[in-house]
Amino acid sequence: MIRIAIANQKGGVGKTTTAINIATAMAATGWRTLLVDLDPQGNASTGLGVASSERTRTTYDLLVEDVSVDDCTIATSIPNLDIVPSTVDLSGAELELVAEEDRATRLRDALARHKGHEVCFIDCPPSLGLLTLNALTAADTLMVPLQCEFFALEGLSQLLQTVERVQGRFNPDLGIVGIVLTMFDRRNRLTDQVSEDVRECLGNLVFDSVIPRNVRLSEAPSHGLPALVYDHACAGSRAYMALARELIGRLPKERMAA
Ligand code: ADP
Ligand code: MG
Repeated sequence: MIRIAIANQKGGVGKTTTAINIATAMAATGWRTLLVDLDPQGNASTGLGVASSERTRTTYDLLVEDVSVDDCTIATSIPNLDIVPSTVDLSGAELELVAEEDRATRLRDALARHKGHEVCFIDCPPSLGLLTLNALTAADTLMVPLQCEFFALEGLSQLLQTVERVQGRFNPDLGIVGIVLTMFDRRNRLTDQVSEDVRECLGNLVFDSVIPRNVRLSEAPSHGLPALVYDHACAGSRAYMALARELIGRLPKERMAA
């Protein structure tokens, strides 16, 4: 199983939208896909139509109570797509784990024992705390949604420093599969300028596919559906399908067999 963390410590940059739609695109392509909701806000769970009453076993149980991935996983309405949901309980996990020696590796250990999915996406919270640390330690590779705005590159360098620290301490093989530009608006000159700067600075690390600002992408979660199901032909859905194809081409081949 390939594990892909979707992280950026900034909120509102499109992590959850990317996690939901890229996971759906992979599932639609036939991959047995798991999405781990690692944000106490539970937006990925809500966006996939998982009611609060269904969230009996969650990422909290996985991390704090040593419940297995299988026992925390529930099926979504999308074929091939399962989720480990989260609730606000997860916000207590960081404190509860702080004294545990294995606090940074709990997600990795849980996923290492898991079989049954071919790819796993981890939707991270908007911080670089213990939850995101668990994701980066557990992941084979990292995908970074980046909103084209003025401070985007600054936030990115902080994230890349964290990646280096994780590589040094917990996960030497952690890769970065790519940076995806989100909420792209061609008519906005700042967006264009920032995207040019990011490409100049980071070159091939940036996916060719960009995700446009698209109202269908923001409407879909309130229907409990991925945009790819809510309106599969909208510009946002098409962009996520293209991104999924590009992602598959970039995944480390040796992990695909494992
Ligand atoms: P994060 O998980 O990084 O906090 P979200 O994916 O939740 O970010 O996105 C933040 C808000 O922006 C949400 O309301 C979401 O629906 C909206 N949004 C995300 N991507 C797009 C997009 N490409 N076009 C329009 N709205 C978007
Ligand atoms: Mg989110």
